[in-house]
Amino acid sequence: MVKRRSRKVAVIGAGVAGLAAARSLLNVGHHVTVFEKSRHVGGTWVYDERVESDPTGLDPARSRVHSSLYQSLHANLPRPLMGFSDYPFPDGPPSCAFPSHEEVRSFIEGFARDFGLSEPVRFGSEVVSVGLDPQADEWVVEALEAKAVVVETFEAVVVCNGHNSVSRVADVPGKLDRTVEI
Ligand SMILES: Cc1cc2nc3c(=O)[nH]c(=O)nc-3n(C[C@H](O)[C@H](O)[C@H](O)COP(=O)(O)OP(=O)(O)OC[C@H]3O[C@@H](n4cnc5c(N)ncnc54)[C@H](O)[C@@H]3O)c2cc1C
Repeated sequence: MVKRRSRKVAVIGAGVAGLAAARSLLNVGHHVTVFEKSRHVGGTWVYDERVESDPTGLDPARSRVHSSLYQSLHANLPRPLMGFSDYPFPDGPPSCAFPSHEEVRSFIEGFARDFGLSEPVRFGSEVVSVGLDPQADEWVVEALEAKAVVVETFEAVVVCNGHNSVSRVADVPGKLDRTVEI
């Protein structure tokens, strides 16, 4: 049997992808640090009532909101498809097969709690740069914590920062290139 060496791994993001990655890495004996810019696990499933200052998402200087949920959102997958194979999504009211965003958040929080995944999370730590130091063959991770930049090196980095908080705007002739008041 091949004996694997334990590695020092950074995971960026404590949404469901980052938590699942952290769980798998910890299961095989790696040393894991999860960087999470917010104060919560759950990522996009942590509802935030704020709306960005530019709803078109075109202004790079706009105020940012990570979650893109609206208040009445339900998942578009039924409960049995929203769980992990060894950690099923709990049953809910039979009148609606599709869980509310509150149920999904609570499921993710339960997943983190039951597998001790909050422990390796560094909350309030926003990764601002990741680069390979070719001489040391290590990844240099820079994170902003309480307005100070903290630098740490890792043997591997898993990027789980989500992709639903930045709009994708098609580059077509005639498209608006400015913010519009609506
Ligand atoms: C409106 C909506 C409805 C959806 N409905 C469903 C559904 O019904 N079923 C389904 O399975 N999926 C659905 N999804 C897909 C959803 O993206 C996934 O369920 C899942 O939440 C994605 O998890 P993630 O960990 O990849 O990203 P996210 O949940 O976005 O988590 C990313 C995390 O990374 C953190 N982060 C980002 N940048 C940094 C940084 N630089 N440094 C430190 N931390 C950082 C963020 O704070 C966040 O906590 C929906 C998505 C949206 C937006």
